[in-house]
Amino acid sequence: MPDTRTGGCLCGAVTYRAAGPFRPVVACHCGQCRRTTGNYVAATSAPRGGVTVEGEVRWFASSAAARRGFCPACGSNLFWDGPGANLSIMAGTLDDASGLGLAGHIFTDGKGAWVDLPADARTAPGRDEALTTMVSA
Ligand SMILES: [Zn+2]
Ligand SMILES: [Zn+2]
Repeated sequence: MPDTRTGGCLCGAVTYRAAGPFRPVVACHCGQCRRTTGNYVAATSAPRGGVTVEGEVRWFASSAAARRGFCPACGSNLFWDGPGANLSIMAGTLDDASGLGLAGHIFTDGKGAWVDLPADARTAPGRDEALTTMVSA
């Protein structure tokens, strides 16, 4: 049974449809995510080939290895496109994120001073390969 989800930006100019399986949500507190969101990124991911987008996405090359997709009209962060077979999708842009839990926090060394993480949360000061490539059950 395919797990297909839809989503889009704040103004509605960009919408997307993505076929799972969806990775559990990972929060990234790196300096780039902190700046583009004003806080931190919470993203799921899905196989790149199963994502179709309607509307114009503006891409920003945030590093040599990754680019970030956002709506040029309203500025909503939508995607993080980096190495690997999956496209990261900002979880808050899903129309229905039910069933997607938060698996953990990465790059906590870069987190904002106002962010308090739960003591029992899975955290990593930098990258956590096992967390970001996790496959949902
Ligand atoms: Zn928009
Ligand atoms: Zn990040």
